[in-house]
Amino acid sequence: MVPNPQPKRLSIGIVGGGIGGVAFAVALSRDPGLEVHLFEAAERFSEIGAGVSFGPNAVRAISLLGLEASYRRIADSSPAPFEDVWFEWRRGNDDAYLSASLAPGCGQSSVHRADFLDAIVAHLPEGVAHFGKRCVEVRQDDERATAHFDDGTSFTADILIGFDGIKSAVREHVLPPEQYRDLGPFWSGTYAYRGMIPTEQLEAAMEARGADRRLAVVPQMYLGTDRHILTFPVKQSELINVVAFITDRSTPTPRLPEGEAWVNAVTQEEMLSVFEGWGAASQAILECIPAPTRWALHELPELPHYHRDRVLIVGDAAHAMVPHQGAGAGQALEDAYVLASLLTDEACDRHNARQALAAFEVVRHARTCQVQRSSHQAGDLYEYRAFGIGDDEAKLASELETRFDWLWNHDPQDDVVAARIRLGWESGSRTALA
Ligand SMILES: Cc1cc2nc3c(=O)[nH]c(=O)nc-3n(C[C@H](O)[C@H](O)[C@H](O)COP(=O)(O)OP(=O)(O)OC[C@H]3O[C@@H](n4cnc5c(N)ncnc54)[C@H](O)[C@@H]3O)c2cc1C
Repeated sequence: MVPNPQPKRLSIGIVGGGIGGVAFAVALSRDPGLEVHLFEAAERFSEIGAGVSFGPNAVRAISLLGLEASYRRIADSSPAPFEDVWFEWRRGNDDAYLSASLAPGCGQSSVHRADFLDAIVAHLPEGVAHFGKRCVEVRQDDERATAHFDDGTSFTADILIGFDGIKSAVREHVLPPEQYRDLGPFWSGTYAYRGMIPTEQLEAAMEARGADRRLAVVPQMYLGTDRHILTFPVKQSELINVVAFITDRSTPTPRLPEGEAWVNAVTQEEMLSVFEGWGAASQAILECIPAPTRWALHELPELPHYHRDRVLIVGDAAHAMVPHQGAGAGQALEDAYVLASLLTDEACDRHNARQALAAFEVVRHARTCQVQRSSHQAGDLYEYRAFGIGDDEAKLASELETRFDWLWNHDPQDDVVAARIRLGWESGSRTALA
């Protein structure tokens, strides 16, 4: 670690270097008054080669975090004249158009995950990130918190932030299993088949199947009972990201077969058989994915707390959700912005940082739980199982037109102001962290 002779206002340990942890570390590292270290279990930063889509709220958080230029360089949007389209909704059986969700000024803003992580890692100063550090235990006393790693080393700071994803080790410390019931991840009942297709190949396949070529490049959702398929472009429209979902709703508490991994390579035949009888576009899409992976989608229950004194969990560690609103990474980025805004406030130091973590929990908890809950419900809606809507396509179409507005219209600067008011720091200012 690089020694720094300046006395620091506050030292912060971050466990986990995914999209959320890295964006957070970048924002903190711009403040010379903070000592910041990030510990990642893997030997390098890495993300899978799939797409991730961001709603207007997530793009707003990216911009407030000072990462907009890096994002814009690699982000895709829906092609003209469909710039505002988040998704078009179609019946899976015959590709019939049902409705569209519009996100004015944003549309379907998406990136290739690995490209996005690389773009934000480029902003991280040397010496902040430490690799091969899998956190196995967290302890704290009245003064400091310590993360212990599986290589026998440890790191002590004024506060620790767990950005360590759905299988978080830090969560066990915040919500000890002996005190709380089992609050670990559970299988949602949904499997997601994933793949990427070169755009030209998909356009040709659509045409060969008699489907409209345009469906390849304009973001689409094909809906049916207990199943749906989504597509959107990534890598400057070079590739189309595909996720095809099937849900087991035969029991309220579905269980994965004993010993089954969360992610498996499966055959194309398996995936095709799930969507047998679906329309031309769906067949064209799935026939272009010779080697899909199948993900058992897990989520967390709504947790009672995110913080315990000097330790806080955020991002998927605190509120992992099913991806049906494309909102999980967006919530991690909103968390990163709100928390970084509080910790870089000059009123924040080692004496009151615990209060800042508590205020963060108060202002973020209701929203993140609502996003978790509504993400699960969105899956029911797309798969013709929503309470009071079911397979009534007229109701479904009208619900989809406005369903996401509350999620997208949120401004995380309001969370910062609310937390500052609780902390007695409020100056009324709303700031970006660039
Ligand atoms: C199929 C699918 C599609 C999705 N699509 C979207 C989408 O379109 N839009 C969207 O917003 N979200 C989407 N999501 C959700 C999104 O991927 C997550 O919400 C987001 O990645 C969470 O970021 P994070 O930084 O909190 O956690 P992660 O990205 O999980 O990062 C956690 C990091 O912590 C490290 N780590 C884990 N344990 C330890 C430990 N003990 N010690 C040290 N390091 C550790 C990991 O190696 C990893 O680098 C999707 C998810 C799935 C499964």
